[in-house]
Amino acid sequence: RSAYVRITRGCNKFCTYCVVPFTRGAEIHRPPEHIIEECKRLADSGVIEVTLLGQTVNHYRFEHGAAVTLHGVTQPQKGRAYAGAGSHRRDPFAGENVTTFADLLRRIHDEVPAIQRLRFVTSYPRDFGDDVLEVIRDHPRICRYLHVPAQSGSDRMLKAMNRGYTVSEYEEFLGRARAYLDQPEIGRPLMLSGDFIVGFPGETDEDFEATKELCARARYKNSFIFKYSPRPGTIAYDKMDDDVAEDVKRRRNNELLAVQGKISEEIHREQIGREVEVFVEGVSKQQRKRDGETKAQIRKSGAVTLTVGGREPMGRAADARAEEGEGAVQLSGRTDGDLIVFFDADDASLVGRMVRVRVESANERSLTGRRV
Ligand code: SF4
Repeated sequence: RSAYVRITRGCNKFCTYCVVPFTRGAEIHRPPEHIIEECKRLADSGVIEVTLLGQTVNHYRFEHGAAVTLHGVTQPQKGRAYAGAGSHRRDPFAGENVTTFADLLRRIHDEVPAIQRLRFVTSYPRDFGDDVLEVIRDHPRICRYLHVPAQSGSDRMLKAMNRGYTVSEYEEFLGRARAYLDQPEIGRPLMLSGDFIVGFPGETDEDFEATKELCARARYKNSFIFKYSPRPGTIAYDKMDDDVAEDVKRRRNNELLAVQGKISEEIHREQIGREVEVFVEGVSKQQRKRDGETKAQIRKSGAVTLTVGGREPMGRAADARAEEGEGAVQLSGRTDGDLIVFFDADDASLVGRMVRVRVESANERSLTGRRV
């Protein structure tokens, strides 16, 4: 009952470590009507959670005046380069003949109300205008979750990576996003996740310290942390020496994981005592291990991954056991802010549904609670 819907493909940014602009080509945007039609079809087939996909998903824009139609079908369109929200707070080309990313979110929310959760990944920090933040704030079925990779906390490294923003511009955006969207008082805290690369060519201890400091200030619920390794076909591979030793990369990776781990635990613990709405994704891995499924079976069926078209064939043993009335089964799901939640249920029939759970305990990675 979850599905991904791709809205853009390719990328125009040319970060020096990334192969996407060369392998996938220039950014291409699908016509909004095609996207909304697909969301309606998915909703008709029972999907209630949609994740919009794009390398820089929030850079989406479709200019109807420039649309090309072939055999009666509107064609996807190349994205126009523009400076992004570093220099403005609204899509500069917004207007009657344009569907901006903010417009697209609003239209899917309003025209496909059967979709109870609308998410999008991955966002490019510089392209976030206030128009998008307002739409998320004002439309209850759009999730309060942003995945906005920073990659480094050092301006020198961001420049070498060609990320197109400074640390202070990035933090200005985080502050703005929190001002609009962080509303724990109505049960809707904003959850952020980030990406970092450690050991990028030329990264000094000082640069890395700045990354740790940014990670601590940003307070992501989790971060995806990667050790740099040169990839053929990228600008960094051709032009930069991979000059940070492997053991230094490993140490920095572990140090950053420790910084993030502490914050993740704090954020998860803050949820104890709160009531959260959970989209139930499946039988928990723990339960499946207890039921004797092998690691390979669990990996293959991808217990909590989202798939186009709905449920994975997950938790067969637990499903069967629960159907036979053999007692409680532990289920897992996610909150609106993408926090993982475990809770016990009588059977697996809640998979694919929304339930309310009171959080009773938490650790660095997840929450555990009781259904209310
Ligand atoms: S890292 Fe992301 S924004 Fe940068 S070039 Fe690759 S896909 Fe584009």
